[in-house]
Amino acid sequence: MQILAELIPAFRLYGVCIPCERMELLDLGALVQSLGRGATVSEVRMRLRCTQCGVRRPDLRVVYVGADAEASSFSYRRDGVL
Ligand SMILES: [Zn+2]
Repeated sequence: MQILAELIPAFRLYGVCIPCERMELLDLGALVQSLGRGATVSEVRMRLRCTQCGVRRPDLRVVYVGADAEASSFSYRRDGVL
């Protein structure tokens, strides 16, 4: 079981809707904040719903982006949340 908080340093989480052929980057930091530190990827999936077609539980894709991804694009707040 993958823990969301552990993905933040080196992974991106995408929601994938097959009917719409959409792939949307999810905000891991915000998900951890709302679901809690121990939340898992499958818990996110249970709650997800495609905003375009309304399909529930779209696929999730975890993409490895490397340990320096944080520095290059996102700056997640370390204080408070994690
Ligand atoms: Zn959709």
